[in-house]
Amino acid sequence: MLQCSMSYFCLAMLHLRNPSDAQHWCNAQRETGRSVGFVPTMGALHRGHESLVDRARSENDVCCASIFVNPLQFEDGQDFNAYPRDLNADLAVLEAHGCDMIFEGTLESFFPEVEDVRRIPMIPAGPFGKGLEELCRPGHLDGVRTIVDRLFRFVGPAKAYFGEKDFQQTLVVMDLAEALGYPEVIVCPTVREPSGLALSSRNTLLSPDEKKEAERIFQSLAAAAKAWSSGMRHAHLLREKMIEQFAGSQLIIEYAAVRNPSAWTADDPPGELSHAQALIAARLGRVRLIDNLQLH
Ligand code: AMP
Repeated sequence: MLQCSMSYFCLAMLHLRNPSDAQHWCNAQRETGRSVGFVPTMGALHRGHESLVDRARSENDVCCASIFVNPLQFEDGQDFNAYPRDLNADLAVLEAHGCDMIFEGTLESFFPEVEDVRRIPMIPAGPFGKGLEELCRPGHLDGVRTIVDRLFRFVGPAKAYFGEKDFQQTLVVMDLAEALGYPEVIVCPTVREPSGLALSSRNTLLSPDEKKEAERIFQSLAAAAKAWSSGMRHAHLLREKMIEQFAGSQLIIEYAAVRNPSAWTADDPPGELSHAQALIAARLGRVRLIDNLQLH
């Protein structure tokens, strides 16, 4: 049954609790000739997510979003439990940004054909899942590809919106979309604080001092960008520039690396680079942060 998020006032945005209801709604939109733009999220929304919704709204007849903290992409149960959640605030944000429908789900409702959700067949992340995230979070990008595949099948979007902040994820999702034949994947720029710190749902788990310390992540990317501008073209030299920024820091670097985004490699690309993306993952206490920057 389709339900409004606020049954009393029945405002414009639909809030559905089940992916199959979402599927009916999306099918109905397409049957009346409307294109569906889709923004998948794990909630705890911030201005980064808002930018995706704004773009989806402006480029499609209708816009829908999902909020689902996907257990398949967490290798650590504690991290999954600690992930921030604030559904009421999220609904207000989505409604304010003109989202037409938001849906939630459970593993059981996303995979109704699977008897035991501990046995969901995982889809391998594919060639862009190699290296970096794979080494630090084994299985994470497989979990992303598995759920995004399912989300796309329920929603059938014309366009789907992802943030460049999760760079390796965008490559995996674009590869998935190519394999499925839809949707068009739109990669949106990373929204940052004035300090350069990338907005992230996980930032809410940082103390003010930790947040200040986390600014080093962007400083490190900026150092690589500066070195690139002055002619440095080798991945390992650019990485050294990035790592220098963490001297004396409490941040624990999981990886600091440079890759050619148009010729993805698990390891450092050899020789001089013509295209480059600097990528970082670091931990501050129990909070894991990632960011990246195109070097040009
Ligand atoms: P999440 O809820 O963290 O899974 O993110 C949902 C989508 O929002 C993903 O496509 C993210 O890449 C994107 N996103 C997260 N943070 C930002 C940001 N600071 N700027 C732009 N997009 C973002």
